[in-house]
Amino acid sequence: MTSPFEYAPAPESRAVVDIKPSYGLFVNGEFVDGSGTSFKTVNPATEEVLAEVAEASDADVDEAVKAARRAYTRVWSRMSGAERAKYLYRIARIIQERGRELAVLESIDNGKPIKESRDVDVPIVAAHFFYYAGWADKLKYAGYGDTPLGVAGQVIPWNFPLLMLAWKIAPALACGNTVVLKPAETTPLTALLFAEICQQADLPPGVVNIVTGAGATGRAIVSHPDVDKVAFTGSTEVGKAIARAVAGTDKKVTLELGGKAANIVFDDAPLDQAVEGIVNGIFFNQGHVCCAGSRLLVQESVADEVMSRLKRRMATLRVGDPLDKNTDVGAINSAEQLAKIRELSEIGEAEGAERWSAPCELPSNGYWFAPTVFTGVTQAHRIAREEIFGPVLSVLTFRTPSEAVEKANNTPFGLSAGVWTDKGSRILSMANRLRAGVIWANTFNKFDPTSPFGGYKESGYGREGGRHGLEAYLKGADN
Ligand code: NDP
Repeated sequence: MTSPFEYAPAPESRAVVDIKPSYGLFVNGEFVDGSGTSFKTVNPATEEVLAEVAEASDADVDEAVKAARRAYTRVWSRMSGAERAKYLYRIARIIQERGRELAVLESIDNGKPIKESRDVDVPIVAAHFFYYAGWADKLKYAGYGDTPLGVAGQVIPWNFPLLMLAWKIAPALACGNTVVLKPAETTPLTALLFAEICQQADLPPGVVNIVTGAGATGRAIVSHPDVDKVAFTGSTEVGKAIARAVAGTDKKVTLELGGKAANIVFDDAPLDQAVEGIVNGIFFNQGHVCCAGSRLLVQESVADEVMSRLKRRMATLRVGDPLDKNTDVGAINSAEQLAKIRELSEIGEAEGAERWSAPCELPSNGYWFAPTVFTGVTQAHRIAREEIFGPVLSVLTFRTPSEAVEKANNTPFGLSAGVWTDKGSRILSMANRLRAGVIWANTFNKFDPTSPFGGYKESGYGREGGRHGLEAYLKGADN
């Protein structure tokens, strides 16, 4: 029998992007060759090599920091906030104009479905630049002073390449800092397209510098003596290494690290809506989300009902070509990440949890993992404690709100949480007791530039977004 969910293919055209065979570094407003070696970036959905990208050496990073320092001293820190805002507005508008191109390129290099890059990532990227453009001439009303820090060194991961770039660059520039940013090794292409957008916007040379490379390039930025501020998003392990590297210096640091969020469903929740929220919480962006709802805590009395509705819903998820407009779940970003997801899933089974994967045909090339749920998970299981960073959900049950709070907080992380209930009073009481930076009520994975984002404990420190996000890029009200 034909499934009622069969769709004809609806591929987005690739013709809108122009991928060059090779890319240099973006330093002082120009693309330069760099003195290091190069690496390949591949399409994770097909394993096709997309381009050869320069790997910035220590000397290249030094050139980029020098360019950022010159631009800071001579131009950017001297410019009025209103003038800086004009550049940010211009960048925001160009991002909107070139939105389709950015979305297609992001999906090709990262593996995420086009409907997410087109409808979530790129619009929020533009919104960030618009939002912080609005702050540039009003800094003294924000409460953190209006003195920039200087040169910001920024290192970002591969899960939201362009969005993380926007979270880092927009507030830094609005506050009068200049930046040297390193995109992740597996997803450099949209950052390099953003560099072209900076040229198109006539941004003064050196205000934004993009240096591509791997961990060593990131280390060179973080440890460069002329960098005043380090902003990092990525794994807790590298975050800790960065905290050690800057200890004893006067560099200001913000770290946005991992998570193991609890998505808590009470028995009075609207269950179909909750199931949509569970799916969005863990399968959005293939689960490559630091604030993913990767631990489902469901009240025991509705656990069977929720699980049966969840499995029915998961069976309708369309896994495959990221450029197909009907695709819900795209490719895993890299072979390394796929190996990690497989390994932790096998550990989950070996430790006694019950594994169920949505029935779906996975493409033969590329990196794929079927949406998977584990039931019978206990708090001792590694899949309940460690960040899997893939489309894998661990389900635990609870009987009382206090038990839910205890289980939710029983993690080294504290980035986000979700609460599903009909009762407003219960939402407020849960929000007061959950140790998480962001708590969603009857929704999940909602991002807005006006809202601060950040974590407790091993999820890092500092806040990005909103008025609070300005603090990370200013010297403070007393200076
Ligand atoms: P990393 O933390 O290694 O990568 C984040 C960024 O830091 C990348 O640009 C990376 O470069 C760079 N980097 C790596 N080592 C250093 C260093 N010593 N100093 C400065 N910069 C460095 O994450 P991975 O990509 O290796 O992913 C590993 C795991 O981390 C994932 O499986 C996932 O669990 C978690 N993760 C969490 C994220 C989050 O937002 N919470 C985001 C990404 C990963 P390079 O491009 O070479 O990797």
